[in-house]
Amino acid sequence: DVTITCSLPKQYQYKKIKHIVLVASGKGGVGKSTTAVHIARALQAQGAQVGVLDADIYGPSIPSLFSVADEKPTTQDNKTLNPIIKDGIKVQSIGFLVSPEDATVWRGPMASQALSQLLNETQWGEIDYLIVDMPPGTGDIQLTMTQKVPASGALIVTTPQDLALLDAQKGIAMFNKVNLPVLGIVENMSHFICTHCGEKSHVFGKHGAEQLAQRHGVPLLAEIPLNVEIREASEHKQAMLAHDAGIFEHYIACAQILSS
Ligand code: ADP
Repeated sequence: DVTITCSLPKQYQYKKIKHIVLVASGKGGVGKSTTAVHIARALQAQGAQVGVLDADIYGPSIPSLFSVADEKPTTQDNKTLNPIIKDGIKVQSIGFLVSPEDATVWRGPMASQALSQLLNETQWGEIDYLIVDMPPGTGDIQLTMTQKVPASGALIVTTPQDLALLDAQKGIAMFNKVNLPVLGIVENMSHFICTHCGEKSHVFGKHGAEQLAQRHGVPLLAEIPLNVEIREASEHKQAMLAHDAGIFEHYIACAQILSS
């Protein structure tokens, strides 16, 4: 059950957070959470203070991607929660508080209330960026959640597959509807680079995200290749391998655009 204990005046907490960036995707499984974690790490690598808020009620995976799945946020005053701090990044997740089975039957207002609560009642302290991992999709839940958060903008994650691109387009339309700027598109699983010969193959198609970005006048921030280490790390619930330089440089480039 969700216990809604108190509502701090919203501005109180938001003031200490300079930018809230929503990470969204039209479809599940495209690498939204993976992207959220890496962007957070890349922003931190540039010297920013960063928090990550996992609002993906269908499959909160941020705790395991930070290797903190067994931890529970503590409280000093029974009103606010301390985030879990991992490698200097402040992490809060709906998964720490509610079981996914309970949360998946929520309707929009309930989900957006839980998101506001996590946002308002977590002791974020002073942070430059709060990266919010949104639930996949563009339905009522995502729309009401988006309306509840004073975000600076949204990032859309997609794969090059037609269906994912179609859903990503719906994501852009949703953010346009609520006047939230789309900061850019990240194409994940964009291509595969053969470890033997170095050849690049576009397993899931080519140029789709680029065309989507052009059509909507938003930047294509990165084309992240398929990478075995990313998949293995998430399967073993290990902290994300932000030190894989070849992959990480793509996210650094994204972070540079975001912070410029
Ligand atoms: P979402 O948040 O969109 O549901 P996840 O970030 O949880 O997606 O990723 C889904 C799965 O795909 C995970 O097993 C993850 O490790 C894997 N994955 C994500 N990005 C990549 C990538 N670039 N290369 C290989 N596997 C990836």
